[in-house]
Amino acid sequence: MSQLVLNPGKERSLLRRHPWVFAGSVARLEGRARPGDTVDVVTDDGRPLGRAAWSPESQIRARMWSFAPDAVIDHAFFKRRVAESVARRATHPLLAAESGLRLIHGESDGLPGVIADRFDDVVVVQLTSAGAEKWRDAIVAGLVQATGCRAVYERSDSDVRGMEGLGPKTGCVFGDLPEEALTIVENGVRMEVDVVAGHKTGFYLDQRDNRRLTGLLAGGRSVLNCFCYTGGFSLQALAGGAASVLSIDSSGPALDGARRNLAMNPQLDAARAEWLQADVFDALRALRNDGRRFDLIVLDPPKFAPSAAHAERASRAYKDINLFGFRLLNPGGILMTYSCSGGIGLELFQKIVAGAGSDAGVDARILHRLSAAADHPVGLAVPEGEYLKGLAVQIGH
Ligand code: SAH
Repeated sequence: MSQLVLNPGKERSLLRRHPWVFAGSVARLEGRARPGDTVDVVTDDGRPLGRAAWSPESQIRARMWSFAPDAVIDHAFFKRRVAESVARRATHPLLAAESGLRLIHGESDGLPGVIADRFDDVVVVQLTSAGAEKWRDAIVAGLVQATGCRAVYERSDSDVRGMEGLGPKTGCVFGDLPEEALTIVENGVRMEVDVVAGHKTGFYLDQRDNRRLTGLLAGGRSVLNCFCYTGGFSLQALAGGAASVLSIDSSGPALDGARRNLAMNPQLDAARAEWLQADVFDALRALRNDGRRFDLIVLDPPKFAPSAAHAERASRAYKDINLFGFRLLNPGGILMTYSCSGGIGLELFQKIVAGAGSDAGVDARILHRLSAAADHPVGLAVPEGEYLKGLAVQIGH
């Protein structure tokens, strides 16, 4: 097997079990390896550190499959890792009843570059690294065996594949999709999931617990849901007895999906829902100029900072929407605000929100720290993942 030799001292993060080897840490590759091939990772004096997938096009030159130097990386290895990931969810009490569930969360499940989500009896898989690409067949076979699903649909159309030198790939890799739209039930609300054309794998499962909390907090309140996508937070707010819910997104198809979702839930009072297709930055200003006020505001934007390099510009965007969020709150109102930017940690995010609160002149305190649902674990050694962080902040009366 080829050997990836690190520069002196560059084994430190691997010894903490951070699974990435950056280009700057690599001294040389001894032997030949094609993209995705397994290589032995060794220190500059030849100490073995484990086995990784080689990705010459990426700034992340290698991603560890195992920290055991003698691990056998073969079909059986991937089937085992997939089965373990599926079993972790199956035995988690918070997840037992979910029909929409993340089954594999990349590095955090020991499978860098692999995402798999289950929606009813269909599994959607997204492969974003050269190593994951190489082992597609084993990963898909493992998913079929571990879940008994009727179909596996591939959504490997994420931009990050470009950084690995991979083009997009989508379509069924096992079985057939059902004719009718796929649906899941989340916290008692039926939601359609478009695995073919929806964002990412079709649905933002990581917000499940926070949507539930929104429902619990929404009773009798006027709600503004910004970046609503297919209405996940909006419908939970209605289910929780919100007095009114105004939802904003710039995407027409997303809002069409939201309206379909509302129609699928006749138990909800559709007359309390209003949908607005607009740019949130403009809409917040317009609402302010119109003197509108709300009791509960949700801000769940797309990631403004994909990496630390974008943090400064992104910080201004977060500051902007949070400032307007605070200004649009009634006394005693609650702002539920999120960031999924890998380049912005919780501490910085809290600083930005605190700055927005002070500029808005409100007296604010954190009611809840908000994170991703339990089926999106974050590996202990992966501090800068694109994980979700959020704050529920209540302002004074
Ligand atoms: N809250 C959603 C997920 C939000 S994803 C849920 O619970 O499912 C981010 C959404 O923001 C997308 O639907 C995208 O269309 C929308 N979006 C991105 N930029 C926007 C902008 N400037 N104004 C309004 N919507 C925007």
